[in-house]
Amino acid sequence: MSAPPLADVAARAAQRAPDAATVATLADSLSRALGPTQVSTMEAARRAASTDFAHLSPLLPVVLPDRPADIVVNPRDAAGVVTAVRLAHAAGVPVTPRGRGTGNYGQAVPLAGGLVIDLSQCDRVLEVGEGWIRAEAGATFVALEAAARQRGQELTMLPTTVGSTIGGFLAGGAGGLGSIQHGWLWDGFALNLDIVGCPPAEGPVTVHGGRCRPYLHAYGVTGLITAVTVRLAPARDWEAVLASFPAGPGPDHGAGALAAARALLHLEPAPRLVSLDEPDLVATYPADAAMPPGRYSLRAIVDAAAVGLVREIVAGAGGRVEAVRADGAGYLATFAFNHVTLRARRARPDLVHLQVSGEALVADGEAVRAALPGAMLHLDGLRLFLDRADPARGRHFGGLLLSRFQDAATLYRGIDRLSDLGVQVVDPHSWLLDGPALADIRARAAANDPAGLLNPGRFPDS
Ligand code: FAD
Repeated sequence: MSAPPLADVAARAAQRAPDAATVATLADSLSRALGPTQVSTMEAARRAASTDFAHLSPLLPVVLPDRPADIVVNPRDAAGVVTAVRLAHAAGVPVTPRGRGTGNYGQAVPLAGGLVIDLSQCDRVLEVGEGWIRAEAGATFVALEAAARQRGQELTMLPTTVGSTIGGFLAGGAGGLGSIQHGWLWDGFALNLDIVGCPPAEGPVTVHGGRCRPYLHAYGVTGLITAVTVRLAPARDWEAVLASFPAGPGPDHGAGALAAARALLHLEPAPRLVSLDEPDLVATYPADAAMPPGRYSLRAIVDAAAVGLVREIVAGAGGRVEAVRADGAGYLATFAFNHVTLRARRARPDLVHLQVSGEALVADGEAVRAALPGAMLHLDGLRLFLDRADPARGRHFGGLLLSRFQDAATLYRGIDRLSDLGVQVVDPHSWLLDGPALADIRARAAANDPAGLLNPGRFPDS
């Protein structure tokens, strides 16, 4: 495998950037339609709306354009979104939807300038029912979880970036806390979505169930999500458990920690999170007495009623429970998924990450580490496939492989070695759409956005 041709894609997308006269005319008509406070052409606002967390990758910042969007709008409701898209379409100007800009593949960075529609002010929680919550796309996970909890429920899934938006997660994320039980966000999390195409209909069009799929993890190329209904479950009383295990030399290196992690993964009710780090990775984290240096760190968010059993599992595998924190779930989330990359690269900017999954991570961790120079493995519990007849099946570990960055060629040779070991790698150094839903997304984009104005440059051949 070689690095995707991102520089070529970016150069082609840049050719679609509007000229100065078109920008001025569009800015003027947006101001008149939405009111001047919802429209900005100031450079600081345009730059702020044209970044995301692509800097987690040492490769992406080199190929992302240094040309911000030309105009940013902050509509307050779906009608404002429809108006902005209609005017941009009439002017032939590219549109990039935006939540809080926490995506980490550069997928929220406009490649052709144009208009950014920032939906973070469309943030109302609209209604909570039995098993579902409905909200505008800009609602944050903090707001959604609080509203659900007031009704004795909780989100079935949320990313570790709890200040991000539900629309941005559905359009740019994958899973997170809750994924051990509920799988990925395309496994039934979204019940329905309100969509604005380009050009828009009179108002948003609602899609239900399986028809949501081409809008999920599609980076907005199939339409802007203006409101969502997502799945809730009865609220649990979660506690954070932090345990540690000795690190020993030889092939059994970390065997106790791994055995305990596997046992936690199969607890009932399923934990909201199970994460495991080796000592070298723990060394990149801020000091915490419950993550002692030189030891494996196993952390889990478990049902309060299961804490006794967790203590037994940890002790039985040769570990120590270092802390049980009733208010620690949010804290543990910041040591999971790409928060690990964020923390590790703060301490060691020489690191590069890959998102990995597959049996080999636990069956042959040494071979996995050997694929890249100085590699360290972080594991998060997940449900890799959904078997409705047997909800305990499919629980496994995915995670991150962090290694010393040498160059792109070494990294992509490492990906080949990992593939040979049966490890699935999601390349976090590319903003191109990929995966089994790609054909579906492409067909829906052709129907909803025939002029290709929505977030251009995201298809592999664009
Ligand atoms: P943005 O970054 O603003 O947008 C993401 C994508 O969606 C962009 O392509 C954008 O154009 C598009 N988009 C935004 N809003 C809309 C809309 N309303 N309609 C259509 N398209 C839209 N992701 C996970 O899945 N799980 C994690 O646990 C997780 N942890 C992370 C940890 C860190 C430290 C970082 C930096 C990122 C992490 N992410 C994770 C990625 C990201 O934070 C999440 O996917 C997040 O929910 C994105 O939301 P956002 O509001 O910031 O979206």
